Amino acid sequence: MSATPGSTPLFPLFLHLRGRRVLVVGGGLVARRKIAALLDAGANVRVGAPELIDAVQTLVDAGRVEHVRGTFDTAWLDDAWLVVAATDDASVNRAVADAAEARRIWANVVDDAELSSVQVPARVERGPLQVAISSGGGAPMLARHLRETLEAQLDESWSSLATLLTRYRRVIRARFADVGARRAFFERVIASDIGDLLRAGRDRDARDRLRALLADTATQRRGRVILVGAGPGDAGLLTLRALRVLSQADVVLHDHLVGDDVLSRVRRDAELIDVGKHAGAANASMAHHDTQARIHALMLEHAKAGRTVVRLKGGDPFVFGRGGEELEVLASHGIDFEVVPGITAALACAAYAGIPLTHREHAQSLHVVTAHAKDDGNEPDWAALAKPRQTLAIYMGVAAASRISARLIAHGLTVSTPVAIVENGSRPTQRVVTGTLDSLGSLVDTHAVQSPALLIVGEVAALATTLHWFGAPPLPREHALQAAA
Ligand code: SAH
Repeated sequence: MSATPGSTPLFPLFLHLRGRRVLVVGGGLVARRKIAALLDAGANVRVGAPELIDAVQTLVDAGRVEHVRGTFDTAWLDDAWLVVAATDDASVNRAVADAAEARRIWANVVDDAELSSVQVPARVERGPLQVAISSGGGAPMLARHLRETLEAQLDESWSSLATLLTRYRRVIRARFADVGARRAFFERVIASDIGDLLRAGRDRDARDRLRALLADTATQRRGRVILVGAGPGDAGLLTLRALRVLSQADVVLHDHLVGDDVLSRVRRDAELIDVGKHAGAANASMAHHDTQARIHALMLEHAKAGRTVVRLKGGDPFVFGRGGEELEVLASHGIDFEVVPGITAALACAAYAGIPLTHREHAQSLHVVTAHAKDDGNEPDWAALAKPRQTLAIYMGVAAASRISARLIAHGLTVSTPVAIVENGSRPTQRVVTGTLDSLGSLVDTHAVQSPALLIVGEVAALATTLHWFGAPPLPREHALQAAA
């Protein structure tokens, strides 16, 4: 039987049809369209039909297509690699599909995904470059819409660029034997003005630019590090720039917090290194120190080897991310770097919990702070934080929640100041817990809040109750008290 669409995903292929026999059953307009595409791919086309429309007959007369006259006969399939059933008679199409299946010949039945063992995708062609789009037969309109979108986006310069690079393929391969070096070269081609020159019809100048890039040895293997903010977890919150560099990376050094959703956007054959955890260290602070030293060493090692290193961090790299320290190390070693900002936890958690961080009636300023559990003398300025009409976004505060609440109250903040805890902000597992400042510690305990979670303190936190839109509604204070009782 033919393959059933919908259940199993299709496997995409591009076929080399040059000189290979393809049978087209049917001699009308649809057949003609298919024949034209098959001839473009160099296929050796045999058309089987009782009658042919003129346009097809012309191809037969010109010797470009072979014609077998009559009604479908399985012998027509002899020598065929592929068959296209393009008649308007469903029973003939089915007979062709069944006969092909019996002989293990791939069959495409025009406009019938169910009968087809192979489907012809919607496609966008730019010279040697082809984009094939399939919806598995389930939503052809969607595939067509996507094709139109791409048609509009990919101007003809893509064709010229693909042609130019095809022409220089051997030279490029010989010049850069190493895959990494070759990739770096292609990135420079893409980043150069070659595309613009081609778009302007200046093919000769474009070719000269390519030659110049080929001749340039000085910068060809210059490694660099790109510090990238991965945002809070939802890959939709990555910037376009972040996506672009993820697709260019040779090596990605990522924090443990960066989720699979984001990591799946990394170039397939890039090396992924989780630098977030370091096993075997005697204690937590040693582990931290070792981890950071290892990150510095890895960045330097890979960048010096000429690779494009992406240092991927949760949220924004410059907000409690030690991005500054890492850049200082790179700068002192003369390594090139770039920074791509990300959506920091305070912004993401606030947005996804429906808590405006500033509000004309409730808060005129936002303080982004951290408060570790440890009494290490690195105390924040509690007096400055314990003021009304401002919002505190507290990072890494779960373990220290009771202490934070006690300090703020001791410095004068009202016990009834609203608070919200946003756990796993922006992720499918997001939980929001709301209450008042005096209950901050018990809210964490009662709901067994886990890291990563952000504490928000200030009048605006109360708005989560009415403005929440993502995930489950906030767990109310009553619930917390009941559960605690
Ligand atoms: N550079 C990161 C912060 C790293 S510090 C940023 O800009 O967001 C780690 C702390 O960030 C966590 O302890 C937690 O307080 C907060 N955090 C990070 N991701 C979070 C998320 N998805 N939900 C809630 N808090 C998060």
